[in-house]
Amino acid sequence: MENIEVPTVDWPERAPVGDWLQGASAVVVLSVDVDAESPVLARGEHYLNHLTTMSHQAYGPRVGVPRILDLLDRYSLPATFFVPGVSAERWPSVMEAVAERGHETALHGFTHRHPVHLSESEQREEIERSLKTFSKFGIEPVGYRAPNWEMTRFTLDLLGEFGLRYDSSLMDDDRPYAVRSGDRTLAELPVQWLLDDWEQYAFLPEPNIGQLIEAPSKVVDLWTAELEAMRAFGSLCMLTVHPFLTGRPSRLHALEQFIQFALSRGDVRFARADELAELVLAGGPAERP
Ligand SMILES: [Zn+2]
Repeated sequence: MENIEVPTVDWPERAPVGDWLQGASAVVVLSVDVDAESPVLARGEHYLNHLTTMSHQAYGPRVGVPRILDLLDRYSLPATFFVPGVSAERWPSVMEAVAERGHETALHGFTHRHPVHLSESEQREEIERSLKTFSKFGIEPVGYRAPNWEMTRFTLDLLGEFGLRYDSSLMDDDRPYAVRSGDRTLAELPVQWLLDDWEQYAFLPEPNIGQLIEAPSKVVDLWTAELEAMRAFGSLCMLTVHPFLTGRPSRLHALEQFIQFALSRGDVRFARADELAELVLAGGPAERP
């Protein structure tokens, strides 16, 4: 038995955390992943000829994003938009509209290929090309989310190397924490499938992407129940929506009901991811860029 090798996970070292709750019982970050065509094309470029599938994805930037922006305006709420580099290049109007309305734009890979399936040089190229694309819009992003949340330890270290301030791809807490990334410290703003619309609404022709259409009322139940319970733990409710899914009318209404529920509690704060990350890092030996 002594010969069995037990693998160990190479966890990044953690650092002290600042007061990110700021007196609230829980914090909601509304995060919008503007994937558009990228997750489908990352599975195979033959989908370029599949006009219906491409149009299903294009509903996001064409219809979903403007509606989500209008909803945020109605409640004067901040949000963070994660945009793959290729989607930013295909849909420049999205980048411009999000910036004009005062929201944050952050990195989400270049091609939306999942880091766990990429070599280290490919992972580096994904970040470099995304940063180049964002700079064409005059945007210096400070945050990153791995496509499909499929992060590697190497990606985490790259984020520090490129001077980013936070990641939002990991799941080992429901409160933000600080991790060492190379010789820097990053804030981690954890996510969870429960708080993602993909698992509820994604219906696409490719197997293993999504084959579900759930009732928006079920989604309101899931999300409000989680937030209500989170208030007892001082948690981060990192809600993740995709404009090609949540932009549909009844689902947008479900998002509005969730927002109304959160506001009705009186002790739930809404924040952009970058704002939250700076509060997290204020508690530790964070190196200013
Ligand atoms: Zn995505």
